[in-house]
Amino acid sequence: MDMAKLNLSPLALPAFLPGTVWLVGAGPGDPGLLTLLALHALQSADIVVYDALVSPRILELARPGAVLEHAGKRGGKPSPSQPDISLRLIALAQAKRRVLRLKGGDPFVFGRGGEEGLALAAAKIPFRIVPGITAGIGGLAYAGIPATHRDTNSAVAFVTGQSSGGALPDGVDWVALSRGAAMLVIYMALQNLDIVARRLQEAGRSADEPVAIISKATTDAQRVIETTLGRAAADAAAARIEPPAVIAVGPAVRLRHALQWIGGVASGALD
Ligand code: SAH
Repeated sequence: MDMAKLNLSPLALPAFLPGTVWLVGAGPGDPGLLTLLALHALQSADIVVYDALVSPRILELARPGAVLEHAGKRGGKPSPSQPDISLRLIALAQAKRRVLRLKGGDPFVFGRGGEEGLALAAAKIPFRIVPGITAGIGGLAYAGIPATHRDTNSAVAFVTGQSSGGALPDGVDWVALSRGAAMLVIYMALQNLDIVARRLQEAGRSADEPVAIISKATTDAQRVIETTLGRAAADAAAARIEPPAVIAVGPAVRLRHALQWIGGVASGALD
């Protein structure tokens, strides 16, 4: 990308010091949703250790000469292990690099930023956390769905539909969740969508409740399908919805009919 470097110096952002690690959220995809701190980190880092969910358009903003390293795909070895990534970050910081650990969305929302931060703290490596727009907020906004709305819900809950092993997470009380928040935003939900939808209905949510499945949110490939809790799994399969996707469950999904703004304004193609 041929892009002039933005002058961020009037903002007096903190210096990215050698030997430190910044754990930074890159947002859900659209580079326009990066924070200024994230851009500053990209312009300053010696090495960017990034996850699969970070879009290539964002990596293009890295300082020319910065090393771009896909977490886990080092040395031709696939399947990242979390301890390996943390050890890698520690080693790079000890080698006095400016280490940018770049994650999709927000690093502390289902992003394992907590684990990496704890490992850095234990190794006495100075670090900074830069929040990002999480997919459950940015994705809903780009689908025209308010996360809260006075007429429909005063609470919203983020939940994951998948544990690290792939199964439904053990620690989720679906009954309490169903009753506690009218708007549920489910991350990593595609694989277990049939079970999740069933659990929610067993817990009292209606099969007719509106659901939006938002795939590749905020990117040019964004797709949104509207369905119901009863039909969500079948409709997602029939539409061949691809990950990553967030799923919004709740009456505020209906407001999309008035609030859907992508089409004329943004670059996303919706069906
Ligand atoms: N830290 C990230 C979440 C990582 S977990 C964040 O804050 O957004 C990975 C899950 O995030 C995916 O399974 C999907 O549910 C969601 N996700 C991330 N990027 C997304 C995108 N562009 N569109 C839709 N869902 C996304």
